[in-house]
Amino acid sequence: MHKHPSALGVATTLKPAAPVTLIRPEAAARAARFFVEKFPGRSLYAVKANPSPDLIRTLFASGITHFDVASIAEVRLVAETLEGQAKLCFMHPVKAEEAIAEAYHSHGVRTFSLDTIDELEKIMRATGDATDLELCVRLRVSSEHSELSLASKFGAELGETRELLMATRQAADALGICFHVGSQAMSPQAYSDAIERVRAAIVDAAVTVDIIDVGGGFPSIYPGMEPVALENYFEAIHRGFESLPVSYSSELWCEPGRALSAEYSSVVVRVERRRGTELYITDGAYGALFDAAHIGWRFPVALLREDESEAELEGFSFYGPTCDDMDHMVGPFMLPADVKVGDYIEIGMLGAYGAAMRTGFNGFTSEATIEVEDEPMASLYAEPVPVRRRGNVIKLG
Ligand SMILES: *Cc1c(COP(=O)(O)O)cnc(C)c1O
Repeated sequence: MHKHPSALGVATTLKPAAPVTLIRPEAAARAARFFVEKFPGRSLYAVKANPSPDLIRTLFASGITHFDVASIAEVRLVAETLEGQAKLCFMHPVKAEEAIAEAYHSHGVRTFSLDTIDELEKIMRATGDATDLELCVRLRVSSEHSELSLASKFGAELGETRELLMATRQAADALGICFHVGSQAMSPQAYSDAIERVRAAIVDAAVTVDIIDVGGGFPSIYPGMEPVALENYFEAIHRGFESLPVSYSSELWCEPGRALSAEYSSVVVRVERRRGTELYITDGAYGALFDAAHIGWRFPVALLREDESEAELEGFSFYGPTCDDMDHMVGPFMLPADVKVGDYIEIGMLGAYGAAMRTGFNGFTSEATIEVEDEPMASLYAEPVPVRRRGNVIKLG
């Protein structure tokens, strides 16, 4: 791994023609320590947010010992990366029977989620009616407080949960209930409301529950999306959990993806063409900017020039490098008005669902990764809050 002191240094000394992913292991380690110390239960890293082996090792070294995996490839990846030392929880409610069997028999996975009787039967068949399973029933909850809904695909409805919880209780060594409030949940209320759904389901089914898993959804910080401090989320969850009718020894889990990985990566791109306020840059929708293109996510940006621009900030949109019209990120991305061809831009907070989404479409891809020592463009964990160059206009409350 190449190392460099800063994003600015990468741009000015290396002058890369292709996009470069910057990684900040210390930022990820700090996020992990925060969850380990402050979340009132166990934190599982949701690997899909960013499956980089370096990140997985960094999180493990910082105290994250449990991983939420959703495919057999993620099971193998974490098992191999951490040489079998981590505990893997297979939290996709719809799995291939072969994947369950391999996870159970070859990788020691004992924790699985499900949201139907069919899936429960599949798990029992694939594990040879194992008696040492931790089975988590996924409830459908509202995504109304979240920027990205996860409410329509998975989760048992209230009317279905009694039978499912009772059947799963019979089969499981430990019974869990899990949910996901949607990604980038902007209010702790999302968790309080979901925990009320859990309470109703427990009371209705009258089962003993051993694990409450509040899923992911913890926010990071982006322009126009500045959440309250994560402690507020933890407090709301703790209060809700303490009031649930669960066994005294029950455990509280969460599965952060975004919150543990967003600050880990950014990308340095070059401007290849300027047309008014449209910049043609070297990365895009088929690279690390999928969310910027497809759901209009606004990532923070900074102009990387040796001599800082004095120009006013202006809103720009981006075109990615492929020949496809859809390779377009509307932004607006705020940059000094004199940005020009040949300038370098850092696009920040791409550690979650950014760097992980890169494809090779149209021949534009780049493996180049450099470790840097400067602060991420924004942070929910840094104290004091990092102050970066102009063009990066995130205010932290
Ligand atoms: C995607 C996902 C997560 C992580 O969600 P974030 O919003 O990134 O925290 C956690 N659990 C499950 C089951 C998921 O599908």
